[in-house]
Amino acid sequence: MTVLDGRSLARQIRARVATEAEALKRAAGVTPCLAAVLVGDDPASALYVRNKERECGRAGLTSRVLRLSRETTWDALRAELDRLGEDDAVHGILVQQPLPPQIPVDAVVTHTDPRKDVDGLHPLSGGLLLRGAPGFVPCTPLGVMALLRHYEIPLRGRRAVVVGRSALVGKPLALLLLAADATVTLCHSRTPDLGAVTREADIVCVAAGRAGLLTPDMVRPGAVVVDVGINRVDDHLVGDVAPGVAEVAGALSPVPGGIGPLTIAMLLANTLQAARRLTQGGDGPV
Ligand code: NAD
Repeated sequence: MTVLDGRSLARQIRARVATEAEALKRAAGVTPCLAAVLVGDDPASALYVRNKERECGRAGLTSRVLRLSRETTWDALRAELDRLGEDDAVHGILVQQPLPPQIPVDAVVTHTDPRKDVDGLHPLSGGLLLRGAPGFVPCTPLGVMALLRHYEIPLRGRRAVVVGRSALVGKPLALLLLAADATVTLCHSRTPDLGAVTREADIVCVAAGRAGLLTPDMVRPGAVVVDVGINRVDDHLVGDVAPGVAEVAGALSPVPGGIGPLTIAMLLANTLQAARRLTQGGDGPV
């Protein structure tokens, strides 16, 4: 069984981002900058934002964190988002979720400048993805695709099953797999007999947030399994894939060390792309 090592690929992507960011700096005098907005004092969110700051630094990108109190009104947050949209030194904007109840999440997403939508959640980004046009794609599904590409997993004409239909992971991942010519089935909590569907798959991607959801009997021998789930069980991080799947699958991404590190690496890549589009009007390698 091949272990799909996201940590090592994330390191390679970060190194490529660093090289390309340096080239952009030399060519246009611009250092890509990610602005993260943190509303409230949720410790997990604070940790995620600190990690993103640290990763930006390691790739030669700059970052800013706007820390706002839990009582911040939507009007005040909207004004901050406007300021970040207008600030030429900022190329990527992300608003860390969850947000306090007075903040309308959908409005935050649509109000974020789509040119700086490095989380890929703006409806314009979603529309471009649906049409197969270049735009920002959410980082986690981008990470899954990067991992499959890196391990040269064939997708054209293959049966791919995605479990989970969120706007953040499942739906964009299904569209990316479709764009790569896989035959895609998107499953969710109302899918009856999930195992009957996943057993048909050459590639199964699970993003449900249910520890141990995918059991060995639900996997065709030799299938490629990508575990996107992150669940805390007895103080340990586990994915959505039950341990015995490693004995059946042909390849499996571990948790931790699979998709998690790639998600942050793709955030860096998206920030670099945003900086390039804003300063040079186009994309480049990463
Ligand atoms: P979500 O709660 O928004 O969506 C979960 C989806 O799973 C829903 O569409 C639901 O229908 C489906 N689902 C739930 N129970 C199911 C079941 N029993 N059978 C089939 N489908 C079921 O979650 P999300 O934001 O898409 O995240 C999914 C998981 O991925 C979570 O564990 C999350 O922590 C993890 N995640 C990881 C990363 C990463 O960097 N590795 C990034 C984002 C999310």
